[in-house]
Amino acid sequence: MDFLRNVATEYQTVFYLFTVIFFIFGLKLLTSAKTARKGNLLSALGMLIAITATLLYKGILSYDLIIIGLVIGSIIGVVSAYAVDMRAIPQFVAILNGFGGGVSALVAIVEFLKGELPVNVQKLPFDEATKAMYFHGAVSLDMFVGTITFWGSMVAFAKLQRLITERPIVLPAKNLINFLLLVGIIVFAVLLTLYPENILYMIGILVLASLLGLSLTLAVGGADMPVVISLFISYAGLSAGTLGFVFLNHGLIMVGALVGASGLILTRIMAKSMNRDFYGILLGNITPPEMAESKDSKDFYQGKVKSTTPEEVAMILESANTIAIVPGYGLAVAQAQGAVRDLYNELTKDGKEVYFAIHPVAGRMPGHMNVLLAEVDIPYDKLKTLEESNELLPDTDVAIVVGANDVVNPMARDAKDTPIYGMPILDVDKAKTVIVIKRSLAPGFAGIPNPLFIKENTLMLFADAKPGLSEILREYKGLKS
Ligand code: NDP
Repeated sequence: MDFLRNVATEYQTVFYLFTVIFFIFGLKLLTSAKTARKGNLLSALGMLIAITATLLYKGILSYDLIIIGLVIGSIIGVVSAYAVDMRAIPQFVAILNGFGGGVSALVAIVEFLKGELPVNVQKLPFDEATKAMYFHGAVSLDMFVGTITFWGSMVAFAKLQRLITERPIVLPAKNLINFLLLVGIIVFAVLLTLYPENILYMIGILVLASLLGLSLTLAVGGADMPVVISLFISYAGLSAGTLGFVFLNHGLIMVGALVGASGLILTRIMAKSMNRDFYGILLGNITPPEMAESKDSKDFYQGKVKSTTPEEVAMILESANTIAIVPGYGLAVAQAQGAVRDLYNELTKDGKEVYFAIHPVAGRMPGHMNVLLAEVDIPYDKLKTLEESNELLPDTDVAIVVGANDVVNPMARDAKDTPIYGMPILDVDKAKTVIVIKRSLAPGFAGIPNPLFIKENTLMLFADAKPGLSEILREYKGLKS
């Protein structure tokens, strides 16, 4: 045991380097659905190396508190992961990011209040004053990033959970206020670095960073939340990285940088798929255009909707050659992925060309639809991206929209007063026939009516996705017997 502890202590950074290498290859494998499982396993292995190397570190004198923390944390983690409803995963991710940032800020506060420099900082080849300045600078940075992450994520959680309004809450002169808050934080951080004995400077950083976190996220509308969630994934990584600077822990610095960078890349991808300005997002400027008062959907749809039956849908499918299936949030809620797979299998057995048109923000979390469809073994090459789908849709005989709404709403193209304006959508309306399966004319996440439902070539099948699809399959099989 002593030998192991010696090796872990002596070569800790080398072990952390291995962790990061495992993470990088893991991430690479995660970029394709085919290799994603391997990627996950590889990353988990990397994490295991990091945890083992940390636990064996000689600086740990007693394991009591660590074990208590591990047990409590594991119980809460496992129970909540099982308890959280599939629909609440984005909120769950938001709150986990928030906890990451919060913990990082709390550890920085505790380290600051202890009044002594961490072991690795003491080893730096500088004089005492420089080491203290370095440490207090790092602590200030960590408190800043951690606090913003915590409050920003809490707002994202509250909005997604609908505890507060999803509409943007924008302070007058928001950008000026945010700028002044940032300047204030920098001033307090410099003061804390120079005069660490004054605890008021620490409180100043915490209060102003909390206000900045709130102001940045309250200004974002509900429909833009996917982008905010990915941004806070990045912030949570950055706060872990800044905590690494406090302790001079190379593992935390490297992994924090990796998470920070991947979160930013994800934010960029999400921003692109929702036509939002990436740099604006970083500054909290993703307020969509002024929203019109929600249109009276009764008038909007009155007398213009054509409804259909599973039997009629089965007949349409029988005479179609190319079919697009467009999954959305409703498919996830209804847990209809198995039913959609059965229909897919039957149609392809008859030689029909069937593909899935996947919008990057369909559902309630990044990659939601890909995960659901991979779960039921839909071949990866049948999952088409937004761009690929939009090339195929005009030549597609039938598009079946299952529980999707905003991601196929043509208003995104030209209705400037809607929260989805500018978001690239799946051009489902260009298919020869459109069938929409949903339970009612209720709006989607963005809360606006959808002109697709009253288009000439659209038929509505009012049903829960799962029984609706099963019924279509039954009728379709019936046609052949
Ligand atoms: P929407 O939220 O626009 O629409 C979902 C539709 O599913 C509803 O209109 C609902 O209509 C229908 N539905 C609900 N339950 C069922 C059921 N059991 N059976 C059949 N239909 C059902 O979903 P989209 O996927 O089109 O769009 C995603 C939206 O969520 C976008 O606005 C996106 O910005 C946002 N978002 C995305 C995130 C992401 O990362 N992907 C994260 C957070 C938000 P009805 O009640 O009539 O059945």
